[in-house]
Amino acid sequence: MKISCVGGGPAGLYFAILMKRIDPSHDITVHERDPAGSTYGWGVTFWDELLHTLYGADPPSGQAIAAGSVRWDSWVAHVQGRATVVIEQGEVGFGIGRRELLAILAERARSLGVTIAYESEIDGEEDLAGADLVVACDGVNSALRERHAEHFGTEVALGRNMYVWLGTTKIFEAFTFAFTPTPHGWIWCYGYGFGKDHSTCVIECSPDTWSGLGLHEATEADALALLEKLFAEPLDGHPLVGRPRWQTFRTLTNRTWHRGNLVLLGDAAHTTHYSVGAGTALALGDAAFLADALHGESGLEAALTRYERQRMATIRPLQKTARLSAQWYENLPRYIGLPPMEMFSLLFQRHSRLLPHVPPRLYYRLGRVADRLEPLYRATEWLGSKVTRRSDEAAAG
Ligand SMILES: Cc1cc2nc3c(=O)[nH]c(=O)nc-3n(C[C@H](O)[C@H](O)[C@H](O)COP(=O)(O)OP(=O)(O)OC[C@H]3O[C@@H](n4cnc5c(N)ncnc54)[C@H](O)[C@@H]3O)c2cc1C
Repeated sequence: MKISCVGGGPAGLYFAILMKRIDPSHDITVHERDPAGSTYGWGVTFWDELLHTLYGADPPSGQAIAAGSVRWDSWVAHVQGRATVVIEQGEVGFGIGRRELLAILAERARSLGVTIAYESEIDGEEDLAGADLVVACDGVNSALRERHAEHFGTEVALGRNMYVWLGTTKIFEAFTFAFTPTPHGWIWCYGYGFGKDHSTCVIECSPDTWSGLGLHEATEADALALLEKLFAEPLDGHPLVGRPRWQTFRTLTNRTWHRGNLVLLGDAAHTTHYSVGAGTALALGDAAFLADALHGESGLEAALTRYERQRMATIRPLQKTARLSAQWYENLPRYIGLPPMEMFSLLFQRHSRLLPHVPPRLYYRLGRVADRLEPLYRATEWLGSKVTRRSDEAAAG
């Protein structure tokens, strides 16, 4: 097969690797608009489960990713002036720099015979004449997808909060949450290590806090200086690095993920809020499923349909969970005044569908009972949606 991948992020590079492993006769080119070695963002988190998948799918890159990652098993949450809670020996997490991850995948892809064309921006399929398969792995703003937005049924839900993805020279040994009060509301950061000399620091606040602090009109240098001051304690006085480009998160869904020989992969197909730290793992998982479907089905349409069906079934529920996680932070005033242990406990239960509907203190007190109520709540929701659908049908009929 002659395959053109548009986008040299984790999805495109990993797909190219897996296809070449299965069948070295594939002719694969990855087109990346940026120069080699340049990327956006800082480190990304992932969990044990991903490492097992990577070891199985392509041991050399799995081992290199494990070797290039840092590991943590403790979590720290600070609420400035009130409490610091440390949870030791919790779930094991890993962090790796995006630059490092992409370098590992690019080197492995090249060693298998994949061509990587840097500084090669592709705007449409017409630039890729002769390809049997065009893979749009060009990220959340995919140009290939946007050209056919109606066919794909693209929908974007904007998050309410403002966020910025920065780095810092502070090395966080534990995954760290830090909440800081300001006269304009709370601002908080998520910090995690990813290498020997840098950590990631994602900073988030409500739009009112953002404009109240003057961040909407601050120069980049002033914004960094203000954020360093606000987070001086968790940063231990270390500087923040990077360009403060504020955004709201875009949760992207598509009704279908393929059109003829064009298929969407990774963030081009779906996004999940960064507070669940899953987008990269999902992009790599998409690559594995697509490679598998292409070698397990006899025709292209059947393979793309199977990939789309299987991955949508996995990803749709995760997108809902991620939305709940994002909403927990959007509703921070509901939780921030609780006694610290209660607040942190609910922070770790922010994926609950029940929590937004129950007074937080009651939810906390119900504790384990609430966990048991969750399936009952899901059943009620499901029943509710059936009833609504039937009454809609009755009204339409
Ligand atoms: C603040 C933040 C924190 C995050 N933290 C985590 C985390 O901790 N863990 C995690 O798993 N995920 C995290 N993510 C999500 C993760 O970054 C993405 O899900 C992941 O990068 C998706 O990979 P991808 O290959 O699909 O897209 P991308 O990584 O976006 O790669 C797309 C590539 O396509 C290239 N491109 C775009 N257009 C063109 C074109 N026309 N022609 C050629 N090339 C093009 C781009 O330059 C880019 O290199 C986070 C996201 C954000 C915003």
